[in-house]
Amino acid sequence: MNADLRGIGMTSQRTRDRLIQRLRETGIRDERVLSVMRDTPRHLFVDEALASRAYEDTALPIGQGQTISQPYIVARMTEALLEDNVPQKVLEVGTGSGYQTAILAQLVPEVYTVERIAGLQDRARQRLAQLKLRNIHYKRSDGTWGWSQHAPYDGILVTAAPEQVPADLLKQLVDGGRMVIPSGPAGQQTLRVLVREDDTIHETELGRVSFVPLVKGDTQ
Ligand code: SAH
Repeated sequence: MNADLRGIGMTSQRTRDRLIQRLRETGIRDERVLSVMRDTPRHLFVDEALASRAYEDTALPIGQGQTISQPYIVARMTEALLEDNVPQKVLEVGTGSGYQTAILAQLVPEVYTVERIAGLQDRARQRLAQLKLRNIHYKRSDGTWGWSQHAPYDGILVTAAPEQVPADLLKQLVDGGRMVIPSGPAGQQTLRVLVREDDTIHETELGRVSFVPLVKGDTQ
């Protein structure tokens, strides 16, 4: 591994191990998720000026008013998505920095990821190529509609919060598939797991969260 990926000082393996320890202490149990997060260089997904804070358990700005999700939230959402079995094909809405995409791509066979802001998508694509993750398909668009061309998905993970769960997204879930999504008005969002069984949706709440809003429409 080259020095960039390995990290030094505040981005070293020791610093990363401390983050994993903290995730364990805050209740993350899935060893597959912990192992992938230990080995994924989160400092590459933020600006160099913020690299020294990359292994703190906190969200950080990534430009354009967006944030890279807090590691605990990435771990919790991924753990919830993988709970019963490993989904073969996953749709992610909100590529952002690409960090959550990187974690998913190391745990499931195929990831389809949608982002509405071109600049963020371009940078994410470069980083994920640098990490040699090749099982990722990218689309720039409003992910509220999902990505119907490749539907249905075994899992859907949404990293920006709509006020209500978009019906179009639920339709793109296979029977038995699960969606992990934050939703609700700003300041009152809840993280939810929705499992589809025929036309019935079973819902579990994972607690209060704070995400950037899911915004309608894509950008140039
Ligand atoms: N998982 C990302 C989270 C980024 S923040 C990370 O950890 O870096 C949420 C992202 O969702 C932002 O990049 C934002 O531009 C994107 N987003 C917001 N509304 C969207 C929409 N309707 N369709 C696609 N992406 C959207």
